[in-house]
Amino acid sequence: MTDDVTDRPCPGGGKNWTVDIQGRPICPRCRRALSTVAGKGRTVQSTPKVPRHERPGRRKQPNEPR
Ligand SMILES: [Zn+2]
Repeated sequence: MTDDVTDRPCPGGGKNWTVDIQGRPICPRCRRALSTVAGKGRTVQSTPKVPRHERPGRRKQPNEPR
C-alpha cells in the first residue's frame, strides 16, 4: 500500500480564498475554513492567498459512521 498520496498538499494552496454561504473565507478546493488551513487568528489581510496545507481525508477519522 502506497500512502504517498496522503502527503500531497491540497491543490487549493496558492490560490485566492473563496467564501462559504456565511461569507467566511475558505479554501476553494477543500472548503475548509481559513482558520483551519492557515491557523487561528489569521485573516485574509494577513494571508491573502491560501497557504499550503494537507489535503483532507484519507486518514482514519475518530467518528465512524454510526
Ligand atoms: Zn484546501
